[in-house]
Amino acid sequence: MNDNKLLDHPRRSWLRAMSGVAVAAPLAMFTKQAFSAQNAVLRQALKYQDMPLAGKQCATCAQFVPGKTPKDLGGCTTIPGDTEISPNGYCVAWIEAKKK
Ligand code: SF4
Repeated sequence: MNDNKLLDHPRRSWLRAMSGVAVAAPLAMFTKQAFSAQNAVLRQALKYQDMPLAGKQCATCAQFVPGKTPKDLGGCTTIPGDTEISPNGYCVAWIEAKKK
């Protein structure tokens, strides 16, 4: 029997495709988690919070490293290794970014 005929059956093709999705979806979630990190020690030391304070926020801070879009989480040069800094966050190390 020709093995290729077995693999060409529409149901088998569908099952093969779905098994790829079943593997890829958790892998994508794991990859995202693997590259996301928080620096809890420095966050606490700098009193980081996920909301602005008195009009000051990470998005307007010279230390902020923006994410892919202005709303995405980013990084901070003062909090190394942390990839989950909110553009709406704030900490006591805030320094106003130069206006462009
Ligand atoms: Fe946000 Fe503080 Fe980093 Fe500035 S120094 S980007 S306020 S966490």
